[in-house]
Amino acid sequence: MRRLVWVCGLMLLAPISVARAGLLSGTGLVGGGEAIATADVGHMVTADYVTRSDYTFDFLYGSKDISDGSDFASVLRAFDTWTSLPEADLTYRYRPSRAAANLGGINGHNDITWVSADHFGADAWTDVLGFSERSIAVTVTWYYPDTGRISERDIYFNDIHMSWRTDTDGVHQGGYLVEHIALHEIGHIYGLRDVYNPGQSGYASWMGSGNEGLTMYAYTTWWSDDVTLSAADILAVASAHPGAVPEPATLVLLALGAVLLRRRRSALT
Ligand SMILES: [Zn+2]
Repeated sequence: MRRLVWVCGLMLLAPISVARAGLLSGTGLVGGGEAIATADVGHMVTADYVTRSDYTFDFLYGSKDISDGSDFASVLRAFDTWTSLPEADLTYRYRPSRAAANLGGINGHNDITWVSADHFGADAWTDVLGFSERSIAVTVTWYYPDTGRISERDIYFNDIHMSWRTDTDGVHQGGYLVEHIALHEIGHIYGLRDVYNPGQSGYASWMGSGNEGLTMYAYTTWWSDDVTLSAADILAVASAHPGAVPEPATLVLLALGAVLLRRRRSALT
């Protein structure tokens, strides 16, 4: 079994965070043709394993900073944002489980959890999982290297070195917005990789430049409130999991409905 860790995802680099503040604010969609080119968005789909459009998960622990349940609700909203795209055929299902977490290993369940010192120990993030303390959240995908088939996908939120917030609870100065971060990690669940700008570790030439507005951009700030997907994110996930086109029979019914509607309208006027 091989483990692929999107560990570079969403690290806040202090030196560039201040400079980026102006760029990040208000950017939701790809603009100006600067960001990753449409012809290259297919590269955003990982080739390391066979991606999946479905996901069934259990939820272990919410954040130490949030007690009103809005952390879990934010995760569900982020899933809804991806799965409600007409361009892509994506599904998710929450299924509670009594399985114990196995941090850094497989346990037969897709786990989503905050990793706090209280629940897992103060060294859980760096020593047990082996992640940088500057990683905000991490998606770990386990797969069989011979077939590329996925075995397990877990999302871990860093609750030891990071603070968290939602619209209704949490740390409002310095806390990361749960829905914003979850939206990025869920992109990994459906097979998208991190995107960078020139000069950053992990950059490839097909990424172009000016990617700050992409959900799959690998860096963010605590004050970012963006919970929308960019055109590039949508095109990329649609290229991996295209949305279903209506069956011919359905099209005929739709056409009939349109005729009936028009008749009724003309009768009314
Ligand atoms: Zn990432």
